[in-house]
Amino acid sequence: MARYTGPSCRLCRRENIELFLKGDRCYTDKCAIKRRNYPPGQHGQGRVKVSAYGVQLREKQKVRRIYCILEKQFRSYFQLADRMKGVTGENLLSLLERRLDNVVYRLGFATSRSESRQLVRHGHFNINGKKVDIPSIQLKSGDVIELREKSKKIVSVNEALEAVVRRGIPQWLELDKDGFKGTLKGVPVREDITTPIQEQLIVELYSK
Ligand code: SF4
Repeated sequence: MARYTGPSCRLCRRENIELFLKGDRCYTDKCAIKRRNYPPGQHGQGRVKVSAYGVQLREKQKVRRIYCILEKQFRSYFQLADRMKGVTGENLLSLLERRLDNVVYRLGFATSRSESRQLVRHGHFNINGKKVDIPSIQLKSGDVIELREKSKKIVSVNEALEAVVRRGIPQWLELDKDGFKGTLKGVPVREDITTPIQEQLIVELYSK
């Protein structure tokens, strides 16, 4: 499956926000956006006038990069959200949050979404007792995500679980740290998603 393989910090500097793409490094003084808080590239420090379209585009790119999703798949999520009952922007965020790779990251089994995606791809998790290896699986209320027995010794997972306190666990999830498993207590609603996102701008962009 295609994925972005360029420098992660460049994306944060482009969007002018910490996207937390590099795990523990993002919480240290080595974070690139703390040291060079301007867009990358030759003209990064120049003055740029941003149009309304530009603002919408940047917001869409930001969300895509937060969840590490390429354009085609992101647009499919939008179309699905648009067909669902309720507010399209909120549906979109709820769909993105309920991806398996995001839930694994939110539960603290990994320090970044790219790391959680790799863990899922390598088949380290069960959902409701069945082995899975597809990061985009949509989870539903009541689903139980469990690290497989042979994977409980992975050092990076244990370290990530120790460090999860720093990020906190969203209230729609429940973590059983000793049992290496987590449960979806419910479907995330808008108030549960604290990442600074203006989803309305994405709806406006795709509605043109
Ligand atoms: Fe972004 Fe993390 Fe790089 Fe900082 S260290 S710029 S938060 S990816």
